[in-house]
Amino acid sequence: MNERDSEQVAQTFAERGYTLTPKEQDADAILVNTCSVRDQAEQKALGKMGMMGKYRESRDHVVYGFMGCMAQSRGSELFDRVPHLDLVVGTQKYHRVFDYVDSILNRRLKTRMDEVGVEMVTGRVEDEIVKINQDRIISARMVDTEEEEGSQNTIRDHVPREGQQATSFVSIMQGCNMRCSFCIVPDTRGKERGRPIPDIVSEVEKLVGKGVREVTLLGQIVNLYGRTEFPKVDGKSPFVQLLEAVHEIEGLERIRFTSPHPIGYRDDLVEAFTYLPKLCSHIHFPMQSGSDRILKKMRRPYKNEKFLTICEKMQAARPDLAITTDIIVGFPGESEEDFEETVACMKRIGFDNSFIFRYSKRKDTPAAEMDEQLSDKVKEERNQILLRIQGELTTSKNEKLIGTVQQVLCEGPSKTNKERLSGRTSQNKIVIFDGDAKRMAGQLLDVRIEDSTGYTLYGTPEIL
Ligand code: SF4
Repeated sequence: MNERDSEQVAQTFAERGYTLTPKEQDADAILVNTCSVRDQAEQKALGKMGMMGKYRESRDHVVYGFMGCMAQSRGSELFDRVPHLDLVVGTQKYHRVFDYVDSILNRRLKTRMDEVGVEMVTGRVEDEIVKINQDRIISARMVDTEEEEGSQNTIRDHVPREGQQATSFVSIMQGCNMRCSFCIVPDTRGKERGRPIPDIVSEVEKLVGKGVREVTLLGQIVNLYGRTEFPKVDGKSPFVQLLEAVHEIEGLERIRFTSPHPIGYRDDLVEAFTYLPKLCSHIHFPMQSGSDRILKKMRRPYKNEKFLTICEKMQAARPDLAITTDIIVGFPGESEEDFEETVACMKRIGFDNSFIFRYSKRKDTPAAEMDEQLSDKVKEERNQILLRIQGELTTSKNEKLIGTVQQVLCEGPSKTNKERLSGRTSQNKIVIFDGDAKRMAGQLLDVRIEDSTGYTLYGTPEIL
């Protein structure tokens, strides 16, 4: 989701004449889009921004800004952490970033040695002009973290790519109305807000017109899309209506979505997998814990059996379905029995992959204040056990694919070896193979799987 938001901001700069550079030392403005899910992510963003301050020594006009979740939750406190920081823009204001950066940059480039500082709080210029000492640029200290109605409709543009772009993310909503006790997202992203179906369809049509063959629909709880704004039709949720509308788009081959939640994952969505063939045979469905006691402490309002039942209904609706998940180990109070229940669920569902996180405290979340915080040693031991089990599950599932032919959407050169091509199966498994990127990128290819190294498959296209 952050990647998609960053792309939107980048496009607002590109369409107004700025150039994107992969080299931070060449940039006139450096913006870091931040995540608050784990403390480590925040520390990394702060460290990176701190290090990049050196570019102002040789290019004193450079504008520095934080955007996203950490910007939203910490606001102007970030200026104390990073003295050269100019701009802090929250999650509902991505569409304003260009104007803020452009105004600071223009002032700096015009006045250079007689710079002014502008204090701006929550979008209001306070008009306090502060002369600086001689030749030192001071931080502009602009903050805008206000809520803004309709901000979900502003994440809709895409940066044109060189060559064939086979896949794209599409943001369909913002925010989350849940209150998981470990999560800071409801504070940083606000309430659930969905975009209208025709706007989303039009965005996907434009992408398809540029050669995109697969879209991933993004939302914090994607299956709850539109539930407060749009009515059910023929018993179908707004999300299923959206899937049907996107499915109609000619030239689009595949649809994915991430991430769904057990609440609101109803039979209409399960059934959609039986009559919408463009829906990929994969769901990323966060389980978090296999223990009802821990789910309750996490404030996830359902029993684990509900999660398992949905997985099993989905496996029945799509027999070749791959399920991947997120799991938190070492949540406060997680006993050996709770942990064993998580292990049992992993084995019962047989996840194709899991993203396993050791619980880490997040500031301003209820779980951070809970008693019975577990030691790092216990968290690490449990983490290793789950990684081992998942490794075995993934290896065994992928080995069964050796000798089969899988339909793969070629995405272009592999990120790790530009000499080879990479693509994904409908089950979202990465396949590496040889071929001509110019001719094959964006094509659905039948690839015979010949080898597997745990998480990656290797094969040869049937027709080169
Ligand atoms: S469902 Fe829970 S974990 Fe997911 S974004 Fe909402 S509060 Fe956070």
